[in-house]
Parts: sequence; structure tokens; C-alpha cells
Amino acid sequence: MRILISGVAGFIGSHLADGYLARGHRVVGLDNFITGSQANLAHLVSVAEFELRPLDVAAPFSIEGPFDLVIHAAALASPRDYLAHPIESLDVGAAGTRNLLEIARRDHARFLVTSTSETYGDPAEHPQKETYWGNVNPIGPRSCYDESKRYSEALTMAYHRVYSLPTRIARIFNTYGPRMQAADGRVVPELIGQALAGRALTIYGDGAQTRSFCYVSDLVDGLMRLAESGDALPVNLGNPAEITIGDFAAVIRRLAGSSSAIEYHPLPQDDPRRRRPDIARAQNLLGWEPRVPLEQGLRETIEYFRARRPQSTLSA
Ligand code: UDP
Repeated sequence: MRILISGVAGFIGSHLADGYLARGHRVVGLDNFITGSQANLAHLVSVAEFELRPLDVAAPFSIEGPFDLVIHAAALASPRDYLAHPIESLDVGAAGTRNLLEIARRDHARFLVTSTSETYGDPAEHPQKETYWGNVNPIGPRSCYDESKRYSEALTMAYHRVYSLPTRIARIFNTYGPRMQAADGRVVPELIGQALAGRALTIYGDGAQTRSFCYVSDLVDGLMRLAESGDALPVNLGNPAEITIGDFAAVIRRLAGSSSAIEYHPLPQDDPRRRRPDIARAQNLLGWEPRVPLEQGLRETIEYFRARRPQSTLSA
């Protein structure tokens, strides 16, 4: 297959490119590097089956086809990034999704959009099933991300209904692993960075809020299965093992061998209190479930960040 992946220099996009290249496919990757990183693609520079086009998918662009599969993975996924770039965040979900859907329509390609558990907002239903419509503040600070993803789901369904395009919607829950940005503010790189530097671990609120963390290799496996054998309705992809942020900080501190203190900060506005995917649909439809236990995935991730720490602070 010839596959188009937007957001290819990002955390999930670069792992997806690796997954398809390893299976003998060709990948054309798009990225405007607003949050993506060249380092995530360094190992692909001399790979003939990979081609990078540095461009903004939210602006008009043309690209020669045909493609067999189009994956829209470009997004500003970290709260710090989307709060700093709310308009770009809305644009990549709106114009970006439209531009990539048009390429899929032109080429009669399958289309997959990486949506998010944020479509459920601060959920009143727990765990979250795909049938739950969500509890999203449409004008709050997180709305630029949540509503851009909800719009991109709506647009994808419209293309499916109007043009019979074979589309897929993945609702991705918190995912972690190597190639996350070190300083993007998300809880995984943030706490690992703090633990490795011996700085205090910052917990927002009282740490009783929960998340469910999926290792990136499991997520990529789920996305590839969904592209191949799913249907048009949304599918949750995530690890149902739920943990409080307080307990999560303690696990990171232990695995990093750190004696960092814990420091409490105010909870950001509209921060969801609980989040855990119901993955029955992914299990039934795709035969998929996550396999990597939290501690194993976190060890890999901690090693990744440890290896990338500036030389002068290695002994800190
Ligand atoms: N969080 C925290 N300390 C940090 C960063 C995040 O306690 O240094 C909390 C955040 O308030 C949220 C959870 O960890 O409750 C996950 O945050 P993240 O930004 O990773 O993603 P979210 O799931 O909120 O999109």
C-alpha cells in the first residue's frame, strides 16, 4: 500500500509510519513541525520507502496520488500546546480533516482519523462507551481541542454518508511511550522529567483524578487493525487499567529510582475527573486489546527520557 500520514513527525504519527514501513508499505508523511520533531524521523532519513513533505495540512496543498490509505494523525494533543495554539488546533481538525478527506475521496482510499477520549469531555458515564455523547464545555479552554476533534468526527461521518467513503474513527485514550515531547506538559513526560532531575513532582488538584494509560506499541497495533478491518463508527483505543494521578506519580518515582518530593498545584479548568475506556467494541471488532503492562511501558519510557537528558545533568 501507499499510505499518507499527517502528523508524521509526532509521537503517534512516527510510530505509525514505523509500523507500516516494517510491514513493507510505502509512507508519505506530512508535518508542519509545530509540535512534531525531526528527531522522531531521524531513523527514516535514508529509508527509500519513506518520503517527508513538510507542509501544513490545514492550508491548501496538492499531493500526487494515488494513496490506498489516508491517516489524519496531525493534532496538538497536549493541553499546553493546544492552549498556546487554539486556532491552529481548531484548523487542523477542521480544514486539515477536510483536506485529507478530499485526498481519500479522490483516490478511493480508506481514511482514518485519530480522534480522542476528549470527545467525552468530563464524562458523566464511566467507563466510556462509544455510544456516550460526552460532556464537553464548548467554550472552555479545552474546547479548541475537544470541539476540533468532535467536528472532525462529524465531517468524517458526513463523507462516509455522502460519498460512501470507507472511513474509520479511532478515539484514542491517554497514550505514552518513547518520542513524546519532553516538555509538552503532559503528565507522563512531565513527571518523568521531574523524577529524573530530582525536582518535585507536580500533581494538579489532589491527585484523585484518574486516567488509563496505553503503551504506544499497543495503540499502533489497534490503529492498524482498525484501518484494515474496522467499520465507520468510532472505536475506543486505550488501556482500561485505570489509575489515580497520585498513584501514577508514586509509580514513576519508584521506577525512576527518584526521591523527588510531591508538590500540589491547582487543577486546570475542565480537567476530566475520571477517564477509562470501555474497549469491548475494539475487542469484538478487531480482536484487539492492550498487552503491555503499565510498569513495563513506563520502564521503556523512563529509559528513553533518561538517555536524552543533557549530559551535564546526568549525575543530578
Ligand atoms: N497532571 C498533573 N501534573 C502534571 C501534568 C498533568 O497532575 O504535571 C494531570 C492533569 O491535570 C490531568 C492528568 O494529569 O488530570 C493528565 O493530564 P495530561 O495533560 O497528560 O492529559 P489529559 O488526559 O488531561 O488530556
